[in-house]
Amino acid sequence: MFKKIFLSYLSIMILVMTALSFVISSLAESYVYREKRSLLQNVADRAKRAAGSYAAGDINRDELGAIIDSMAYITDAKIYVVTSDIAENIDLGSELAGEYLKDAMSTVLSGGSVFQRRQYAGFGAQMLFLAEPWRAGGSIRGAVLLFSPEEDIAAVIGGIQLAVFLSAAAAALIGGVVIFLFSRRIVRPIKAMGEASSMMARGERVDDIGITTRDELGGLARSFNSMKHKIEANEALRQELIANISHDLRTPLTNINGYLSGMADGVIKEQDYPKYLGILKGETKRLMDLTGGILEAAKIRSGSIELSRETFALRETADAAAKANAELSKKNGVHISISVDYALTVHADRKKIEQVLYNLINNAVKYTPRGGLVIVSAVNTDKGSEVIVKDSGCGIDEKDLPNIFDRFYRSGSKDGFGLGLNIVNTYVEAHGGSVDITSGPEGTSVRFVLP
Ligand code: ADP
Repeated sequence: MFKKIFLSYLSIMILVMTALSFVISSLAESYVYREKRSLLQNVADRAKRAAGSYAAGDINRDELGAIIDSMAYITDAKIYVVTSDIAENIDLGSELAGEYLKDAMSTVLSGGSVFQRRQYAGFGAQMLFLAEPWRAGGSIRGAVLLFSPEEDIAAVIGGIQLAVFLSAAAAALIGGVVIFLFSRRIVRPIKAMGEASSMMARGERVDDIGITTRDELGGLARSFNSMKHKIEANEALRQELIANISHDLRTPLTNINGYLSGMADGVIKEQDYPKYLGILKGETKRLMDLTGGILEAAKIRSGSIELSRETFALRETADAAAKANAELSKKNGVHISISVDYALTVHADRKKIEQVLYNLINNAVKYTPRGGLVIVSAVNTDKGSEVIVKDSGCGIDEKDLPNIFDRFYRSGSKDGFGLGLNIVNTYVEAHGGSVDITSGPEGTSVRFVLP
């Protein structure tokens, strides 16, 4: 990628530089030519006026010669003033005679002017040639011819071109270095993220990507880092979960195995069977609850929650959820009070709402000390049916509250799997509702609204 970016930028820059150099040089060249032409034009105009004065008898031939010579000297050009009678057969030295000069003369004598760049054999160099008619008394009396070597212009243009190309080369060199650094800067975070991904794939520890720019790459690095944290957190959670599940499955399984072995070996007497069968039933129920919760969470995770809505009295569902917790509440010495009007109905998935209420009452009973109270109440508001499960329990640590609805998140207790509240939240949200929790030393209150 570095090579691609670097070479693309470099070739674009070289192309632009070359095009720019050509444009600047040709602009400079045409400017120099224009200037030279206007200088020659100026000289030609003066020569024409001098020739006019000579024809009018204001100056004599020598004076005309002197004027023309001084102009020729200053401008480094050859200047000829010819009269029309000799113009047709002009012979400025045999080397100058040629068809082109004859052509130019006929144009000039019929009132036109000629400007040419060409090789004049007689001067042995590339020349600029300007020919214009001169007049006296309103009629064309002859021609003024100027020959100026291109040499000096070529030197000026050559100098300009050299300067332009040298500047372009210097700019390309500096630009090349800048592009090199720039390309490296672009590629560096991508490379770092690529390496970090490979390391993560190999299960190695990876540090955060240290890119803090505010552009898209910075955004990518931030997303990468947050993805990495999430994966790490998930991995830690997974490890912890495996450890917990193994532990939680092991305890009831060991008990079941112990009691069954006792029964098989005759260590447990037959008359004690009913008692131990009750314990075995309790242990298998615990196993079923555990696996049920894990399955439920897996189902939720795969996004397959289907609601089958019906209209039902919330009171009946709350009673059923309380009844399912009756045994535990009796054992824990916690009283459950339901204060929901029999007339209050909701349009929802009855089984899921019962599960929600069961989980909330179960938590409340689990985390409330003996002699405590759990109250389930519900009212209709303009947002929907608002249900509150409140207990006089130990409360939840403030630092745990923000994550309490996360899957497998547990606060102080290691009793459950950290799935209960996650299931509550997911089910209520699936109904379009919301859950919030407030907790303090005087107890916990979970409120959910069903629209
Ligand atoms: P679990 O199945 O472990 O109870 P939950 O998701 O239901 O999982 O609850 C997460 C954590 O929140 C629990 O570990 C418990 O510490 C805390 N918690 C939940 N409800 C209550 C409550 N009513 N009173 C005190 N703590 C609670």
